[in-house]
Amino acid sequence: MQVYNMIVLALEATVYFLFLITLLHWRHRIGIGVFITVLASMHFLETYLAATFYVSVPAATISPGSAVLFTGKLLMVLLLYIKEDASTVRQLIYGLLAGNVMAFVLAQILDLHVAPVRPDGSPADAVFLSELGILMMWGTSLLYLDSIAVILLYERLGGLMGRARLPRFFAAGATVLAFDQLGFYGVLHWLTSAPVSVFWGGLVAKMAMTILFVGMTGLYLYLFRADAVAGPVKGVGDVFADLTYRERYNELLARTGRDGLTGVSDRGRLEVEGPELVRDAVRAGDGVALMVIDADRFKDINDRYGHLRGDAVLRDIATVLTGAVRKVDRVYRFGGEEFVVICRGLGPIPAHAAAERIRAEIGRIEGPDESRAITVSIGLATAPEEGVSLLELISAADRRLYRAKAEGRNRVVGD
Ligand code: GH3
Ligand code: MG
Ligand code: MG
Repeated sequence: MQVYNMIVLALEATVYFLFLITLLHWRHRIGIGVFITVLASMHFLETYLAATFYVSVPAATISPGSAVLFTGKLLMVLLLYIKEDASTVRQLIYGLLAGNVMAFVLAQILDLHVAPVRPDGSPADAVFLSELGILMMWGTSLLYLDSIAVILLYERLGGLMGRARLPRFFAAGATVLAFDQLGFYGVLHWLTSAPVSVFWGGLVAKMAMTILFVGMTGLYLYLFRADAVAGPVKGVGDVFADLTYRERYNELLARTGRDGLTGVSDRGRLEVEGPELVRDAVRAGDGVALMVIDADRFKDINDRYGHLRGDAVLRDIATVLTGAVRKVDRVYRFGGEEFVVICRGLGPIPAHAAAERIRAEIGRIEGPDESRAITVSIGLATAPEEGVSLLELISAADRRLYRAKAEGRNRVVGD
């Protein structure tokens, strides 16, 4: 009988998974709302079963509500996050939370009825109604925390386990479900005096179901890998290469925002991250220095030795700049032969020293003409002295650059 119960549990899990994965798979045709609604509609059944329906399997008594439906739901939340993004998951979680608040409030109002009965005239189950209300609220609050935890953990594990996404999926799910079991059992015990065997049984069952669900997910992703964004055919271990939203975003960031010629960040990147960089530093009281660096008489080099030779010098300048600053400093190609360097935490005096060092190191670049060194002029401005925003710093540094040029080039002007 116990083994038979296990087979039925596996059947429930398979049907649950196949149903939902089909809806998730066709989400672009039928809309993601169908998947979310079906997943959410299982919530009542899940809580109802967890409160009232337990079956015995070898060495334990477990509820399909927790073991199958709840485990499945949490893993579906993670899968939804992987396939879509956090904002879609948020709709599901907030919807569930709000729905349960409403169910709870209605349960309190229903409780006001006098002598409710069943259709056959016997007394209605009012106790269950209020118990269910509390259990649902608690279950959903846990799910809310679980969902955030499972996503954060999945992302964190990405740093540790790298591209091994299926084990990562399992590790995140199993860890969070173990904590969830503790939380859910605590309240269940309080409400229904469930024995401790329910805790252990539920824990083992959730782990077993996680293995089953992750296995089916792996199989699904493997079978339908061709539907993923076109790319080289991937192996089984790589099926999770359908990147998560954040990974896709990071990858995109790494590829864009870089200047093609010199490899340093480009002006677009400066405009995106520069204002925040300055604002954060100023707010933290760290101060920040900004240099506008312009190659001297660069047109000459182009005119005399050609554009390609000029390009090579620009690359050399960028290399020197990147090597001359600290790891935390940022180097951007601002325009043609102009660069911007932002150094957080440098006051006027050390910033001036840093600029002088940069100027000296660029002077050592081997240019096309031995008789004429490659030199730069540098305009330097610091926050909060000359301004507290990126624009204020750039315009102050730019004015000083202009003066450096006027005063004879190959120099730093910082006040
Ligand atoms: P100075 O700044 O000292 O006043 O003189 P300059 O000759 O550097 O003056 P200007 O800023 O007017 O000229 C910049 C030159 O940089 C003009 C342009 O041909 C060259 N330049 C801009 N972008 C590139 C590039 O990507 N590759 C090469 N080879 N040259 C570039
Ligand atoms: Mg120039
Ligand atoms: Mg220029």
